Amino acid sequence: MNASIPSHCGPLPRRATRRVLIDGVTVGGGAAVVVQSMTNTDTADVLATAMQVAELARAGSEIVRLTVNNEAAAKAVPHIRDRLLALNVDVPLVGDFHYNGHKLLTDFPACAEALAKFRINPGNVGAGAKRDPQFAAIVELACRYDKPVRIGVNWGSLDQSVLARIMDANARLAEPRDAGAVMREALVVSALESAAKAEEYGLGGDRIILSAKVSSVQDLIAVYRELAARSDYPLHLGLTEAGMGSKGIVASTAALSVLLQEGIGDTIRISLTPEPGGSRTQEVVVAQEILQTMGLRAFTPMVTACPGCGRTTSTFFQELADGIQRYVREQMPVWREQYDGVENMTLAVMGCVVNGPGESKHANIGISLPGTGETPAAPVFVDGVKTVTLRGDNIAAEFKAIVDDYVATRYTRKAG
Ligand code: SF4
Repeated sequence: MNASIPSHCGPLPRRATRRVLIDGVTVGGGAAVVVQSMTNTDTADVLATAMQVAELARAGSEIVRLTVNNEAAAKAVPHIRDRLLALNVDVPLVGDFHYNGHKLLTDFPACAEALAKFRINPGNVGAGAKRDPQFAAIVELACRYDKPVRIGVNWGSLDQSVLARIMDANARLAEPRDAGAVMREALVVSALESAAKAEEYGLGGDRIILSAKVSSVQDLIAVYRELAARSDYPLHLGLTEAGMGSKGIVASTAALSVLLQEGIGDTIRISLTPEPGGSRTQEVVVAQEILQTMGLRAFTPMVTACPGCGRTTSTFFQELADGIQRYVREQMPVWREQYDGVENMTLAVMGCVVNGPGESKHANIGISLPGTGETPAAPVFVDGVKTVTLRGDNIAAEFKAIVDDYVATRYTRKAG
């Protein structure tokens, strides 16, 4: 039997969407997928929030969202913006509004001015008769301040009136759909109807981004496929409440990879719960690594390393792989300013002769460390050619020097 081999194994072209500009950052319209993150500081604490935004931006977050939940937070936003500018951090800030956004944006015009985008959750703009006028008020403020809006639906706060309407319609069907399908349809309808209403209230179609987040991988994929099929607004992807550690990373990666592979998604956020004492920037690193390992964008040189096995009796190669990945990540802010294309560099750190030389030859720079019983020598390959063999106690430092030399000689220096 002949196996069929797909002629195209890369991601599908980006879905055609409208283009939304957020303070100079392009989302949609075929632009590269944008990485976002969100602070977890008290927004009213100007210093702590500004420092965290700066940390997220320096890690590579291209848009940062912060909650604006009360007057103190709304008052703080312009001061956060000023502090960031003083730190030379010019990342667009998105205000996350629930319940009282219409009031805060009205009462604190400097907050509205300082933000690059407003996030509105249609399920949380107001209950009953207050819902439409309060939604309209935020949209009108977005028009007045010329700000784009993300209509961000979440299944944890789904508009109950929409859900009830979809459930009623479903009950009248000859073959009603299951509860999961009804919920997914309600999420999609809530997002699409809210976008249509926002346009009715005067917001341009090129000022709207949609999201509809759930915490189940399969539901997320189904909801976003539907959103993509039924609209051409740019889509913000994220698995909500993804969780902590490897579970959060794996679940987010599983969901987003399927969608990104299909060309769905214009901006992403990884909603990781930080480990106690862990850095908030992990969500940025994971987002970048998803995009980079899928070949959609390049942010920082990636290190390929073997998992190790019984042929390796020491942890040296693990330490070297980790040290090199940390090193290139630390160097990237400087390299990015100085050299074109350095983010595409590939590195390999391998544990023995079985796959070491082969894998190392595929990388720009690779090192094949000696496994158990092998001669204590580590050949280094540069662009597929063996250039030197390292020995002794100084292998890590010498390998870093080779990486530095490669960057300085192989990538074009930027002008200025
Ligand atoms: S390259 Fe060598 S050490 Fe690494 S996993 Fe393969 S056999 Fe084991």
